[in-house]
Amino acid sequence: MSAREAHAPGARGPEGTIPLAVPNIGALERDYVLRAVESGFVSSVGPFVEEFEDAFARRVGARYAVACSTGTAALHVAFLLLGVRPQDEVLCSDFTFVGSVNPIAYTGARPVLVDSERATWNLDPALVAAELDRRAAAGEPHPAAVEVVHVLGQPADLAAVIEACGRHGVPVVEDAAESLGAGWSSGPLAGRQTGAVGRVGAFSFNGNKIATTGGGGMVVTDDADLAARARHLTTQAKVPDVGYLHDEVGYNYRLTNVAAALGLAQLERLDGFVERKRAIATRYDEVLAGTGVVLPPRVEGFDATYWLYSLLVPEDDPRGRDGLLAHLAAHGVGARALWRPLHDQPPYAGARVVGGEDVAGDLFRRGVSLPCATDLTEADQERVVAALRSFWA
Ligand SMILES: *Cc1c(COP(=O)(O)O)cnc(C)c1O
Repeated sequence: MSAREAHAPGARGPEGTIPLAVPNIGALERDYVLRAVESGFVSSVGPFVEEFEDAFARRVGARYAVACSTGTAALHVAFLLLGVRPQDEVLCSDFTFVGSVNPIAYTGARPVLVDSERATWNLDPALVAAELDRRAAAGEPHPAAVEVVHVLGQPADLAAVIEACGRHGVPVVEDAAESLGAGWSSGPLAGRQTGAVGRVGAFSFNGNKIATTGGGGMVVTDDADLAARARHLTTQAKVPDVGYLHDEVGYNYRLTNVAAALGLAQLERLDGFVERKRAIATRYDEVLAGTGVVLPPRVEGFDATYWLYSLLVPEDDPRGRDGLLAHLAAHGVGARALWRPLHDQPPYAGARVVGGEDVAGDLFRRGVSLPCATDLTEADQERVVAALRSFWA
């Protein structure tokens, strides 16, 4: 395997290494994909696309779902739906994958980076509220939107963000790329799922996500007009039934029928994937208790999927994150650091940061993700466990 393949999303890594997170593809996927191929509908027209969209909307509890070619495209569409334009500002997490924020830049708007709270590792709702209140008091324009990312399968404190945004009339976009299957079981959002609460939500089906289409994404909303407009924007803004009329600049962002066939099969297996992720997380939690590491957030009523199980190495351990990564690599364990904060990425180095504690930087400096593919065997997890134990022995 080339170095390039080894670093691709969902890659298996060097021979014998336990992978971080790889797709779980089985007989159902093979059957549906074969059906799609044999039907001749291999491109963006075909029955699996609609079936996948309908099943997805039902699964996450949204009225409408529009399939896209990637999660990044889905987010771009989400911001376009809300009318985000050049010179606008959008509040976004400082601590997230760059795919959350690039779509803001595609619209010409500027991200304003909000630091994380310790409780969920997601953007701090108190900082969002303070920023919106400060702008209102100073007579500054509101941001065009607030983007809430649910990192690593951990629901953000969305209710608090929605409360603050509601007071100022600012729409909320959810980046649920990493949190399909996560939701809330108590509190103001009890019974709701991440991605389907804000005005528009976006999901990803990239190879390393909990459910994959190879590459793909989904826009969800309860608003029929926004859904229709999403469909329009993703199909080159082609006006139906009038020949080649395109009434604005559109995008070729549709998902293919073959990819949708894969996605439908994955969706039908999602509950099993979530159950497996949670079981893997519980086992790691048990093993790591007492080592001094910070375990992934567990918040009452917030039902995380632990899409990517991640810990923080103890502050006072001189070996640090890189010491743990090197130790795990030497034991054939495919672990990885968490994301460098966006304020530290060259394209966003000039972005304004809200919050003074740099929790995002701390998560980056101390964070390590452990292997948690849904087909991780118990024997392989015990190999990871043994490597962890020997680090803290
Ligand atoms: C994966 C991801 C995206 C982008 O999705 P793609 O399908 O890879 O384009 C956006 N945001 C977050 C948080 C992600 O993890």
